[in-house]
Amino acid sequence: MAAAQRIVIENCSIATVDANDTEYATGHIVVADNRIESLGAGRAPEGLENVVRRIDATGHLVTPGLINTHHHFYQWITRGLATDHNLFDWLVALYPTWARIDEPMVRSAAQGSLAMMARGGVTTAMDHHYVYPQGSGDLSGAIIGAARDMGVRFTLARGSMDRSEKDGGLPPDFAVETLEGALAATEETVKKHHDASFDAMTQVAVAPCSPFSISTELLRQGAELARRLGVRMHTHGSETVEEEKFCHELFGMGPTDYFESTGWLGEDVWMAHCVHMNDSDIAAFARTKTGVAHCPSSNARLAAGIARVPDMLAAGVPVGLGVDGTASNESGELHTELRNALLINRLGAHREAALNARQALRLGTFGGAQVLGRAAEIGSLEPGKLADLVLWKLDTLAHASIADPVTALVFGAAAPVTASFVNGRQIVENGRLLTADEDAIARSTREQARRLAGIAQQA
Ligand SMILES: [Zn+2]
Repeated sequence: MAAAQRIVIENCSIATVDANDTEYATGHIVVADNRIESLGAGRAPEGLENVVRRIDATGHLVTPGLINTHHHFYQWITRGLATDHNLFDWLVALYPTWARIDEPMVRSAAQGSLAMMARGGVTTAMDHHYVYPQGSGDLSGAIIGAARDMGVRFTLARGSMDRSEKDGGLPPDFAVETLEGALAATEETVKKHHDASFDAMTQVAVAPCSPFSISTELLRQGAELARRLGVRMHTHGSETVEEEKFCHELFGMGPTDYFESTGWLGEDVWMAHCVHMNDSDIAAFARTKTGVAHCPSSNARLAAGIARVPDMLAAGVPVGLGVDGTASNESGELHTELRNALLINRLGAHREAALNARQALRLGTFGGAQVLGRAAEIGSLEPGKLADLVLWKLDTLAHASIADPVTALVFGAAAPVTASFVNGRQIVENGRLLTADEDAIARSTREQARRLAGIAQQA
């Protein structure tokens, strides 16, 4: 076996986000191949062998890489539309356009979404993709390929919709799959792409879209499929008051009870939004260890409301952060969601006690690892864990006078990323991607956005 190659990072502040929130004012991290070998206060130990690189990280805070737990990459090419709508009106306005996507559009949109997040410190991304128009090509393969080429750790939540307008759902009839077709394609995607190993770069989850776009049978059988294949489950839940009303009218119960009745609460499940949750809903999530992807900007953009994150955390619910699709969060950045999560929750019932800077950082790192089922591998800086980490530059005009580095990262302006590592491999340097050409991606996404708009207009 070849000896491990080491990268030594020194002279930085470190927020480990371990169980004790251990921090070092000035410390070092030693990376060996794709793992964190050691870390601590002061300089790295003398006499380390096979050091291929030594980084003087003076002026930087090092944190675990950020983990995004909810997104829809394809929306990158439908940003800035229906900007003053609530969720249901926004969906009805956009479904006809979304239903025209094809493989080149989805590949380009995935590259745009991934690039934006990666240069802002995301090391693990996810895409909840649920629009599979007939004859549109290998969309899942295109998305997974884009993540692999960029070197970002990735979960594809293979989505689906089978409840269209004719069945009382929101999507148009031509935009959905059949129950059997959706289940078969999801199983095929898991078998082809899911990697269950410790340092997997690609995982797949079973992810029917939302109560108002899927049949009860797709939820039930989707849960059975996921558990038979041993993969995680994801969907949207309790996002708006309109969804709550829809569930009561169609199913005679609220969203959380509906999910429970179809097998959709459990430690292998994470759900996006969870804004409209009463005390017993939160207790059910805590009892079953069902995870939540909190998407504060999207919830604000669509006037959905404020999720009760402090109550969820107090009850023991695993909570991560999500960008959500960029048709409802045009920025597409996760590092700014640390700040938004903190600020928006302080507008809720708990006021200044809602969240602090450390809790916000934890949501974006370890919390995300928990909801993706990967807390043993990523989400904190600890010996033996995978080397997914970010060097935030905090010694410039924007941050240099802020008293504390974690406060600077969370409360301050979006911090520049000097370097970002995934699986021990550097993918960002001085805010630019090393693994893709950002300008080429910008051009192609603009082109594909125009093409999609043209096709949608003709339809
Ligand atoms: Zn979403």
